[in-house]
Amino acid sequence: MSQVRVGSAKLVEGSRPRSCVRHGNAVADGSDVDLQSRPQHDMSPTFGGVFSILVRTADHLQDIERVPVQGWPFCELCVRRRRRLRRAAQALFFGGVVLVVAAVVVALQRGQEPLLMIPMLVGVAAALGSGFVFGQSSWSHIASARVSDDGRWVTFADAHPAFLAEMRSASED
Ligand SMILES: [Zn+2]
Repeated sequence: MSQVRVGSAKLVEGSRPRSCVRHGNAVADGSDVDLQSRPQHDMSPTFGGVFSILVRTADHLQDIERVPVQGWPFCELCVRRRRRLRRAAQALFFGGVVLVVAAVVVALQRGQEPLLMIPMLVGVAAALGSGFVFGQSSWSHIASARVSDDGRWVTFADAHPAFLAEMRSASED
């Protein structure tokens, strides 16, 4: 596993790799995705949830660099990982909301009990944490890809040797 930097133009227009960047598996049909730059914030996991919700909303207003790539080879493992993360994010979010609502309903019926703070806080934390998990499910994260701030390069942090070999032979052409 090693890091590799590829020109964005080459990814958009050039020949597409056939091997999954993370796992090296050959992929017949790729997916059309946007690889993205990331906001310049160092966030602790605690704030990650709140933050990624805000950041994602702001992404559409801000100048996050995007590189649209057609037919990117995500293998079955990558697709499954994304699906799992999305499901986990959904479960966290709805589970958190249900906990909070349930705690509020009980509080309304029985009056405020200090113990009800626990499900409430857990619920809020879960709902916020879901934003972080959801962020991890983006195609950029799945590919360990990061677009440079000027949008000219894409860095793959965890490239498989098979992917590297393909990239290398493509640049020798
Ligand atoms: Zn893969």
